[in-house]
Amino acid sequence: MKDRTVGGICCSEVLELLTEYVDGELDVTAVEKIENHLLGCPNCERFGRNFGAMVVSLRQESEKSEAVQLDVMARLLSELRQMGNQP
Ligand SMILES: [Zn+2]
Repeated sequence: MKDRTVGGICCSEVLELLTEYVDGELDVTAVEKIENHLLGCPNCERFGRNFGAMVVSLRQESEKSEAVQLDVMARLLSELRQMGNQP
């Protein structure tokens, strides 16, 4: 995946911030940047939506086990990155 800058933020930054975005931990400015990016970048729009859905269902399933959740999240992120590297 080419790193595109849309809405003042590039794809890799969006990926980095996605977990916090889904968690609602980002400030309004960052959320706006990510949402503008998602609107203007088809790659991230697709990633963002899939990722958001996965994170939400993961959270519901593994609320009791924070450690496991973090591990799964890390794997998820690296899988997403690999997906992004495919043509
Ligand atoms: Zn992007």
